[in-house]
Amino acid sequence: MSMFGQVYVKNNQYKIKGDFHHLTPNIPIRSADENWKLLGVTNPRDMTYIHTYGGEAIFFESLSKGKLMASRCDNDKCEFKGTVYQPFRIHCPDCLGKNTVIDMTDLAKKTAKVHTFMVCERSGAFNLLDKPIKFINVEFEGVSTILMGYLSVGEPKIGMKVTPIFNTLDPTYTILDLSWVPEGTPEKDLPRGFSF
Ligand SMILES: [Zn+2]
Repeated sequence: MSMFGQVYVKNNQYKIKGDFHHLTPNIPIRSADENWKLLGVTNPRDMTYIHTYGGEAIFFESLSKGKLMASRCDNDKCEFKGTVYQPFRIHCPDCLGKNTVIDMTDLAKKTAKVHTFMVCERSGAFNLLDKPIKFINVEFEGVSTILMGYLSVGEPKIGMKVTPIFNTLDPTYTILDLSWVPEGTPEKDLPRGFSF
């Protein structure tokens, strides 16, 4: 049995297998100042959370195949018909209709540039990215929203043209499977597992 819980769906129901939480023994907290008197216990906790992607699943599935999907409102009755959203929005915020999923990989390769950026020298718990983390806000021609991402090579500059890269070798099916590099970066400089 796997150490971690696993989930699949059959007949429209979750089927779960394995351990979703682990009982780890408590450890006493004692006082070195007062003859090792008991003050409390630690409570280690480790659990697996079931996170459902719903209508966004195709976005993450596509990243694993080297494609960047966006969504677009195609509702004739919507005042803002034709608006393209990246990050992916399942529904149009104006008419609340269901958006059409579109492949914008080529558009991103041709027009992505840094709108603004921030460099983080420190991060919170469970961070998986190398520090300093170069967060960039990426803008695209014809897209009405801006996408947050991280630059894997080089230093960010406002207006710099960037190219998407995808973790297709060992995808995590999270947003970390998408990263960015300056336009013209050679394939050999990409992080492990990533390709154009
Ligand atoms: Zn709409």
